[in-house]
Amino acid sequence: MKFRHSLVACGIFFLAVLSCHGSSVIFQNGKTDYRIYVAPDATPAEKNAAAEFQKYWKLATGTGIAVSGKYTGNRQILIGLSQEAQKLLPGIDLKSLNNDEIIIAPAKDMLILCGERPRGTLYAVYEFMKKYMGIRFWTAKEESVPKSETIAMPEKIFRYAPPVKVRLPYFRSLLENPDFAAKMHCFGPNYTSSPEWGGNHVNLIGPWHTFDRFLPASQYLKSNPEYFSLRDGKRTGGQFQGQLCLSNPELRQKFLEIVREELRKNPDAKVISVSQNDNDNYCQCPECKKIDKAGKSPSASVISFVNFIAEHVEKEFPGVEVQTFAYQYSRTPPEGIVPRKNVSILLCAIEADFSKPLQTTGNPDNAAFLKDLKAWQKTGAKLAMWYYVSNFNNFLLPHPNLESLKKDVGFLGKLSPSMLLLECDAANINPIGDLLPLKVWIGAHLLWNPSLDPEKLEDEFLNGYYGKAAPYVKKYLDVRRADALRNPETVGCFEYTAKWVTPELLFQCLQILGEAQKAVAGTPVPAERISILSKPFEYLLISDYARWQKEKDCPPYAEAVKIARDYLDFLARCQVTHIASTNEIGATRRQFERFINYPPEKMKPHPFLAGFKNRKKLIFEEDAFIIHGDTHAEVVRDEKARNGWAIMLKHIGPSWAVQLPIRPEFNLGKSYEVYAACRLDKKAKHGLFQFGGYDLIRRELYINVHPDADTLAADRYLYIPLGTHRFRGKSYLFLDSKVNPEIQRSYVDHLLFVEK
Ligand SMILES: [Zn+2]
Repeated sequence: MKFRHSLVACGIFFLAVLSCHGSSVIFQNGKTDYRIYVAPDATPAEKNAAAEFQKYWKLATGTGIAVSGKYTGNRQILIGLSQEAQKLLPGIDLKSLNNDEIIIAPAKDMLILCGERPRGTLYAVYEFMKKYMGIRFWTAKEESVPKSETIAMPEKIFRYAPPVKVRLPYFRSLLENPDFAAKMHCFGPNYTSSPEWGGNHVNLIGPWHTFDRFLPASQYLKSNPEYFSLRDGKRTGGQFQGQLCLSNPELRQKFLEIVREELRKNPDAKVISVSQNDNDNYCQCPECKKIDKAGKSPSASVISFVNFIAEHVEKEFPGVEVQTFAYQYSRTPPEGIVPRKNVSILLCAIEADFSKPLQTTGNPDNAAFLKDLKAWQKTGAKLAMWYYVSNFNNFLLPHPNLESLKKDVGFLGKLSPSMLLLECDAANINPIGDLLPLKVWIGAHLLWNPSLDPEKLEDEFLNGYYGKAAPYVKKYLDVRRADALRNPETVGCFEYTAKWVTPELLFQCLQILGEAQKAVAGTPVPAERISILSKPFEYLLISDYARWQKEKDCPPYAEAVKIARDYLDFLARCQVTHIASTNEIGATRRQFERFINYPPEKMKPHPFLAGFKNRKKLIFEEDAFIIHGDTHAEVVRDEKARNGWAIMLKHIGPSWAVQLPIRPEFNLGKSYEVYAACRLDKKAKHGLFQFGGYDLIRRELYINVHPDADTLAADRYLYIPLGTHRFRGKSYLFLDSKVNPEIQRSYVDHLLFVEK
């Protein structure tokens, strides 16, 4: 009671102050006479919005503000969609707000913060904090709450409704932190959000790639092979192996029954995903082929099937949308078949060149995507979009897509898709990827309002997050931007190497990042942020040191060791667990440990190499390889190897675990004779490993060699020929160590490539 008394006293004081100033304030001179009003029938999210307001008010002003369920009619901050707020805003029908619409409104001496249920009020409260209190939320764990001297009453009503309904950065910090998701105004079917954070109201059954989820090959392939896709004369099913035979009438009926059951089980569902598995093996039976040929795209059988499902559920579930993918083989819309009005298309940009904005003229990958996008728009279908932010084959590398993201999210958002998904590294718990906190922050802001200026957003983040180092970070980004304009390399979202990085760019970036580090020396928070910012180029330096070492500006080994040590520390302190979605960090950590513990040594000469004395040749040691997991292969110490290390293949089953991405050193216009320096654990006659080349664009095996072991020895490395090949740029070579009863272990010292 004493507290209330003092508030009344403050009120009198304030009236006097306000009458002098003209414009009104809510907080001044360390005091407020306002209190928060939350109606007794407020939703959990509205009550929580009031609690959040109270929490940040305290942090910003150093004083408390009371929350009350009693409406007084003066000097209250009304939080939530209450009857009282409606009476104060007669011109706005609060019951029919747009999706996620927010309202920040002064009404006499009252302030109203509300929005469409369930999330709008939370968003309105956070928007008020940003606009009127200068509060910024950078990451799930980092925010800036400046000290508030004065908090002004807004002068006029602010209303805003986002054009994108489901705003979904697929990013672990957002997926798992519902408060951060609410602060960034993001949500989606995979977000963990309880009702007080707005809940998970997407009501989507799926979420995606549901053919195998609804009709699992593990359950039906044996009994009903005719349900599954026909590939090379064989029925194939499974999430990563096959699709469905979409023209089969029995399959259609069976799938329809499953969809009906799902919808009956989930009466709140608004969308059901009926979508292809994550592979290219669509059905090539005569009937499916006929439909696809007539529609001039393999999407014809997909849309024909999805239309069939949509037509038959429409009557029982009139409000439900049947969503399908336009993805990889189905990205181009069919001719002559139009998606029904209760069908929506989730268009995926997975093939784009992410180093250039989608609308860059003359870029063939992006032009092809835009052509399909326009063709889908022409069909009148409701569109949702899937965009890719990380490099999914290596999260640790620099990935030059900031400029594209800044333009593309605004461009796609302005088309008002029902959902815009930004897929990021969702394997690592912390945002450790190249510029990822910045990319997600800009991305989320543009999802909310695609008309925001991305340049201003970038500056705001740099200044707010990097403090004194911001000018250096800006310089670092400018250098990367200038390089990207000159650089013709295409960069997709599945890259094994950063071929676009020249030695000049690498050393220049490292130098600027070093200056940034000096600018924040002694201040631990920004210093750690700059350290994490530097990691992608430091990873590139150490993981490929043999390549850079020949360049004049390369840091000497002793300095590189310091960088490698700090990198290992970073892996531990930032809990980095994955180099890629399906590849854990172990092999990378061991590679860095080897680098620190074993300085590059002078290689032992091998008489075989002398035979190619005047030929151009490339030798790739174990560090150039990507080794997936520890199960099938490992890098081991081996005194017999040229540099003391070798890749040990375990021959325990088929796998493509040992991969050599096509590297920048290769001349793609030339052929190479390929040799592997190998030895065995004991002498064997037959079989060794498969040496293959896999084309990532055409998704096909283009090199397939099966050498025999009979010329190899156990006590020393000998070279085994693997044929003459010309390599494709977007591909990798691999060694598949099959089960071989004669061989327990085989060892590869390096691969030798002699230019023809
Ligand atoms: Zn078929």
